[in-house]
Amino acid sequence: RTEPGLGGDARPRLTVVSGPSGVGKSSVLAEVRRRRPEVYFSVSVTTRKPRPGEVDGVHYHFVDPETFRNLADTGELLEQAEYAGNRYGTPRGPVQRALDAGRPALLEIELQGARQVRARMPEAQLVMLVPPSWDELVARLTRRGTEDPAVVARRLEVARQELAAEDEFDAVVVNTDVLTAADELVALVVGQGPGAATR
Ligand code: 5GP
Repeated sequence: RTEPGLGGDARPRLTVVSGPSGVGKSSVLAEVRRRRPEVYFSVSVTTRKPRPGEVDGVHYHFVDPETFRNLADTGELLEQAEYAGNRYGTPRGPVQRALDAGRPALLEIELQGARQVRARMPEAQLVMLVPPSWDELVARLTRRGTEDPAVVARRLEVARQELAAEDEFDAVVVNTDVLTAADELVALVVGQGPGAATR
């Protein structure tokens, strides 16, 4: 039988993954990527400066504000948002080409962008990754240690708002442990899971 997400009668899906800072998105998504190389992971454009270890074209396309504005003005972004003083957006072309080629596609973006994708591509699936509890999120964010308390407080405020939007999502995955959360996300992304039916 046909591999899910690679043609057959199941149309490849666009999945949007959102979740508050500190929930462990990057660990879970790295595991999904390792297991499912056929999934296209969108590379966003951002005006933020690269962090140590981040590679242009791999983690993000790092651009100046003028370049970002041009991309936005010419309709080349599927969605865009401002977050913590920087702009972020999803290039439309590569996502469309992946879907046209029969690959499931995945965007890891914040809430404002998720809402835009919902409005523009109603068939997209929105998945929110949540912590097992609020206390656990506080602990994870605090444990990072490098951030000053004001930054942690601001992230927690944004996290509270994001978690309050849970009802707008088609599915919620609880990140109690990375491997289990990756199992659930893989099932949703390649179309074997309950998907939109869990709404
Ligand atoms: P960071 O700067 O920590 O890499 O990302 C900050 C936030 O921006 C995260 O919540 C991330 O999901 C979100 N983000 C990354 N790329 C995009 C994008 O293309 N569009 C939107 N709307 N958010 C993005």
